[in-house]
Amino acid sequence: MQDGTSPVADSTRVQLKRADEHSAHNYAPLPVVIESGLGSWVKGIDGVDYLDVLAGYSALNFGHAHPTLVRVAREQLGRLTLTSRAFQHDRFASFCEDLSRMCDKEAVLPMNTGAEAVETALKLARKWGYDVKGVPPGQAKVITCAGNFHGRTITIVGFSSDPDAYTGFGPYPPGFVSVPFGDAAAIESAITSDTVAVLLEPIQGEAGVLVPPPGYLAAVRDICTRRGILLIADEIQSGLGRTGDTFACDHENVKPDLYVLGKALGGGLMPVSAVVADWSVMSVLGPGQHGSTFGGNPLACAVGSAVVELLETGEYQQRSRELGTYLHSMLSQLPPAQVSQVRGRGLWAGVQLADGMPPARVVCERLLTRRVLAKDAHEGTIRIAPPLVIERDELTWAVEQLAAALAE
Ligand code: PLP
Repeated sequence: MQDGTSPVADSTRVQLKRADEHSAHNYAPLPVVIESGLGSWVKGIDGVDYLDVLAGYSALNFGHAHPTLVRVAREQLGRLTLTSRAFQHDRFASFCEDLSRMCDKEAVLPMNTGAEAVETALKLARKWGYDVKGVPPGQAKVITCAGNFHGRTITIVGFSSDPDAYTGFGPYPPGFVSVPFGDAAAIESAITSDTVAVLLEPIQGEAGVLVPPPGYLAAVRDICTRRGILLIADEIQSGLGRTGDTFACDHENVKPDLYVLGKALGGGLMPVSAVVADWSVMSVLGPGQHGSTFGGNPLACAVGSAVVELLETGEYQQRSRELGTYLHSMLSQLPPAQVSQVRGRGLWAGVQLADGMPPARVVCERLLTRRVLAKDAHEGTIRIAPPLVIERDELTWAVEQLAAALAE
């Protein structure tokens, strides 16, 4: 580890310009071009080593190029990568067993991206509403939370409250009702006889790592059980060790009816997502009613099973718990004139900048010159979500760089 800052190199500028000329402008990346990664570190084409404290929005919970995951993927790459679900392959049963066991559920429906898994959960909930609950055809309603982020499909952005996400993409599918996040009573009041499910993130990630009040998840669980509707937990970003437990719902001993998983399920190697539920819900789908060419492919299943195996050691959850406590204690010492609030749980923090501070993006640009890769979540929040393999001294160094960037 060296100290000091690095200017944007010419090689980086050239690559950024080329990408800008030939790729859609749907992202505004920080000016760095990465060529390799190992553990918590990545190397830029400028020859500089950067500490990654974003970890692919939690997709890299196990760090870059985790040796076990890379070995498993390499072996599988040389053996079998795709059959489509028209034929069964020899990694499928184990993956479904492994993931069901970890979730303490009965059945898995594998997909690829997070948004696809959310769509899958919504289809399951609607079909369950019609087939099991007896909601009149076409009337099913799902309760969502303001500030949510569940992906980018038309249905999902249709119930987003972020104007950047939804403006200009309508018309949107009906059947969604929004309530404030963290308000269990608002959920209860919004339920009608047509309500089939509540969809929520146990901690809202993109909204700025918003942790709901204690007791919220347990109260929502209780409401859903009492009122006969499904609780869908989108644990795509919060799950798989990020918060110091396997799932963020675990902190309140809550079992949702449907887990929606993605990101880290692919070990940072490939897109792997899934919905995990009991047969009481999963059995509403029959052949031809849902699917995906790549969902549940042999490579994805091999990597997914290896991810479950890593998580079943408990090591990553423990690291996140212990290092997370350390991270939050360091962040809480940042000057209140610069940082008004630090939110989060485990190795996951939303650092809210105080009024009068520059936008979070500017602070992230300063961090980049200090060799730390972090990302803003909305204008005033810096999100910190390092790989769970990060070392304590690396965390210390990252927070020192943050303190320096804030003071610049
Ligand atoms: N749900 C949550 C909570 C997320 O954070 C994200 C992505 O950030 C998604 C869904 C969408 O996942 P994907 O980008 O893989 O479609």
